[in-house]
Amino acid sequence: MTYRAPLDDILFALRLAAGEGAIRPGGIYDDLADGVAEQTLTEAARFAEEVLLPLDAIGDRVGATYANGAVATPPGWREAYAQWKDGGWNAIAAAQDFGGLDLPALLNAGCTEIWNAANMAFAVCPLLGHGAIEAMEAHATDALKETYLRRIVSGEWTATMNLTEPGAGSDLGLMRTRAERAGDGAYRLFGQKIFITYGEHDLAPNIVHLVLARLPDAPEGTRGISLFLAPKFLPDETGAFTRRNDLRCAGIEHKLGIHGSPTCTMIYGDEGGALAYLIGEENKGLACMFTMMNNARLSVGLQGVALAERATQMALRYASERKQGRAPGAKQTSAIIEHPDVARMLLTMASSTAAARAICYETAASIDRAQRERDPARAAAAQARASLLTPVAKAFSTDIGNEATSLAVQVFGGMGYIEEAGVAQLMRDARICAIYEGTNGIQAIDLVTRKIRGGDGAALAREMEDMRAIVREADVSQDALREAVEALALASAFLTKAELADALAGATPYLRLFALTRGATLLMKGARAAAKDNHPGAPRYAALARFYAENIAVAAPSLAKTVIEGGASVIEASVALGQ
Ligand SMILES: Cc1cc2nc3c(=O)[nH]c(=O)nc-3n(C[C@H](O)[C@H](O)[C@H](O)COP(=O)(O)OP(=O)(O)OC[C@H]3O[C@@H](n4cnc5c(N)ncnc54)[C@H](O)[C@@H]3O)c2cc1C
Repeated sequence: MTYRAPLDDILFALRLAAGEGAIRPGGIYDDLADGVAEQTLTEAARFAEEVLLPLDAIGDRVGATYANGAVATPPGWREAYAQWKDGGWNAIAAAQDFGGLDLPALLNAGCTEIWNAANMAFAVCPLLGHGAIEAMEAHATDALKETYLRRIVSGEWTATMNLTEPGAGSDLGLMRTRAERAGDGAYRLFGQKIFITYGEHDLAPNIVHLVLARLPDAPEGTRGISLFLAPKFLPDETGAFTRRNDLRCAGIEHKLGIHGSPTCTMIYGDEGGALAYLIGEENKGLACMFTMMNNARLSVGLQGVALAERATQMALRYASERKQGRAPGAKQTSAIIEHPDVARMLLTMASSTAAARAICYETAASIDRAQRERDPARAAAAQARASLLTPVAKAFSTDIGNEATSLAVQVFGGMGYIEEAGVAQLMRDARICAIYEGTNGIQAIDLVTRKIRGGDGAALAREMEDMRAIVREADVSQDALREAVEALALASAFLTKAELADALAGATPYLRLFALTRGATLLMKGARAAAKDNHPGAPRYAALARFYAENIAVAAPSLAKTVIEGGASVIEASVALGQ
C-alpha cells in the first residue's frame, strides 16, 4: 500500500489547532467530544485506503475520456462515487438545514487531507462541491437552496466553479461571459469558460454550474461581475430534471497530472442562452465567489499536505529497503536512509509536511472559531486570522506538495523517474496545486497587499505575540526561532511602508518567510505539548521541530533581507529580461 492515513499525526495536529479545552463539553468543539473526531477520521481513512487509493493509478493511466460532448471517468470511478455518496461523505461539513452534518471545518480539513492523499483527481470533485455549498448557503435564495443545494449536499448532484476564460485567468475583471435578463427573474448566459474541473462527467445525473458573468449594464472590471447558477438539466413539466440546458462541454484538456479529473471547456448559449439563476445580488458576484474560493483555497492547501505526506511515506519506505554504499561507521552496505544526505531529504519532507499541516489546521480552526465563538470580538479576531492565514496555507502547502514530491523522486533515484514506482505521478499531480484557485504568486500578493498593508495590523500583531511566546518557552533551537520571528517582524514592518512595486517584488519571499516562521513555531509548540502529555509521538515531534528550526527556518533572515533589500534588483533588471 502506498499510503496509510497518518491518523495519530492528524488527530494531534487537529487537537493542537483546536486549542486547550475546545473539544471538551462546553468548548467550541464540544460536538467533537466522545470520540467523534477519531471515529470520523478512522472511517474516512478506511474509505480512502480501501476505495479511493486502488483507483488512483488507473485514473492516471486511463484518465477521463471525451466523446461527442460526454465525458467518461476512469474504470471503477462511478462505483466509487456511488459509495462516496451513499456513505454520506459529501455532507459532513454542510449545514444541517440542507441535510449536512455541520461538522467543523477542522474535522473536514482532516478528511480532505486523507481523501486527497489517496486519490486527488477523484477528491477534487467534491472539494469544489464544498466551496459551492458554502457559497450557496451564504448567498442563494431559499428556492435555489431547496432545489439544488440539498442535492449537492447529499452528493446526488455535483457542482462546479466557472471563473476562467481564455482571456481571463488571474484577472477576472477581463471576463466576457455575458448574462441577459430573461424577464421572469431568470437569466440567459452566453460565453466560453475554460479549465472547468468536472464540468462534464458520468459520476452523477446532474451538474450544477456556478458561473461568473457580466450583465449588459454592469460596471467595468471586477465590480461588474455577477454569480449565476446554471444546471446541466432543468426540470420538465413533471418536475423531473430531464430538460437539457443550453450548455455543453466542447472538450477536455490533455494535461501533466490529475488525469482522472476532467478539465473541461464549457460553452454556454449556443442555442438562445443557458437558463440561469442569480446567486446573491447583481454585480456582487465576486464577493459571493470569494466565499467559495476561500474555502477552496484552504482545501487546495490541504491537497499539498496530502501529496507531501504520501510522498514522504513512500520515500521513507523505499529508503529503508534500498541498499547502496556504506554509511559513516557502517561495516556493510547500508540502507540509503542511513546516509546523512538522504536523511536530510527525508527530514525536510517530513518536517515541511508537518509544518504545512499545522498551518492549514490553524486556518481551519480559525474559520470555525469565527463562526462558533459567542463573543463577537473573539469571533472577529478569528475571522481576521483566517483571512491572514488562508493565502499562506494555500501557497506554502502547495509549494511543499511540489517540493516533497520532487524530493521523493530524488530519494528513489532512477526508479523515481520510472512511472511504475508511483512517485512520479505524485509529482505530476502536485504541480497544479500551485496554479489553480489563484496562483501562488497571486496568494503572495493577496497576503502582502490586502492582509499586511491593507488591514489594521491587529491580526499580524497577535500572530507575532503568539510566536514570541512560543520562542520564550522553547528549550531547544531558541536562537534559530527567535531570529526567524524577528526577521519576520522586520520584513513585515518594511512592507507596511514600502513602495508598492518593492512590496510586490518581495511578496513571494515574504510569504515563504511567514510560513517558515509560523511553521517552525507551531512545530515547537506541538513538540512541547506532546512531551507534556507523554504522547507516544513526542520524540519524533521533538526531532522534527528541532530539524525544522535549525535547518529550514534558518533561511528566515536571508528571506527578510531579500524582501527588504532585493526589490530594486528585480525592478531595475528589465534589461536582463530583454525588456
Ligand atoms: C487542471 C486545472 C483545473 C482548473 N480548474 C478550474 C476550475 O474548476 N474553475 C475555474 O474557473 N478555473 C480552473 N482552472 C483555472 C485556474 O484557476 C487558472 O489557470 C489560474 O487561476 C491561473 O490563471 P491563468 O492560467 O490564466 O494564468 P495567468 O493569469 O495568465 O498567469 C500566468 C502567470 O502570471 C502571473 N500573474 C498573473 N497576473 C499577475 C499579477 N497581477 N501580478 C503578478 N503575477 C501575475 C501568475 O501568477 C502566473 O504565474 C483550472 C486550471 C487547471 C490547469
